[in-house]
Amino acid sequence: MKHLLATDGLDPAFATAVLDTAEELKHTLLGREVRKLPTLRGRTVITLFYENSTRTRVSFEIAGKWMSADVINVSASSSSVNKGESLRDTALTLAAAGADCVIIRHPASGAAQRLSGWLAEAGTAVVNAGDGTHEHPTQALLDAATLRERLGSFEGRRIGIVGDVLHSRVARSNIHLLSALGAEVVLVAPPTLLPAGVESLPVTVSHELDAELPALDAVMMLRVQAERMHGGFFPSAREYSIAYGLNERRMKLLPEHAVVLHPGPMLRGMEIASAVADSPASAITEQVRNGVHVRMAVLYHLLASEGAAA
Ligand code: ASP
Repeated sequence: MKHLLATDGLDPAFATAVLDTAEELKHTLLGREVRKLPTLRGRTVITLFYENSTRTRVSFEIAGKWMSADVINVSASSSSVNKGESLRDTALTLAAAGADCVIIRHPASGAAQRLSGWLAEAGTAVVNAGDGTHEHPTQALLDAATLRERLGSFEGRRIGIVGDVLHSRVARSNIHLLSALGAEVVLVAPPTLLPAGVESLPVTVSHELDAELPALDAVMMLRVQAERMHGGFFPSAREYSIAYGLNERRMKLLPEHAVVLHPGPMLRGMEIASAVADSPASAITEQVRNGVHVRMAVLYHLLASEGAAA
């Protein structure tokens, strides 16, 4: 059984195959009135979300539906989880009911990995749609798809990841994927928002955004994850924004070809100014669009390609 749990240790050949399939799917569906392929007909995909989501949940649902899978959405707030059911029992119930794939978002780091162990016997594939502060692999894949589309290749490209790296599963997944694909990753953050052990990651670290911008091919702004902060990580929102926000003045420091990314949800005026988010350099809407094709490609490689479980 194949799963997609993390980009740390993910085979770059598999990641490239997903990006290639996503690109192919995008071209196949472009301009079509009926965006429906029969590939996953008869397959059941369940999204199981214990945390809020707009983009990820919707794009997995659309991805499954465009591949003709039956997609069912379960959110913790409206399921038996609210009655005290454990994650294991919920997962085994979904597998027994016929799930071929469970896409899980959970506040605990490692939840997707645990789930894959419990569901191994049932032969149900697991996709990690964000586990705590650990990983969000499909976000990194859709970011990579967007960067490849805009920049052509990863080799020798310098990508800045800016802001709340400490609490960001998006940052962690991107660090591993982008470096495995050949890009150089620079983390730009205040010391309080960098994870312990950052020296062991394949990155360089800076605290000075202005100094880094002229040499970046892309800059990925992160949301300040207030819901995961239990203490003062910076003096005030205003000071954070002054030091690490991407405003119009800063955008002018970037090379002309540079791409601006944000995984969403954006805090406009905090980590990114509206004028930047809505500028031609911004690929934020394109990230969402590519998210659907990348998630279709992931479902294809886990459930339908040669070697996937029959
Ligand atoms: N949507 C992304 C996530 O779920 C990023 C964020 O929430 O800031 O990790």
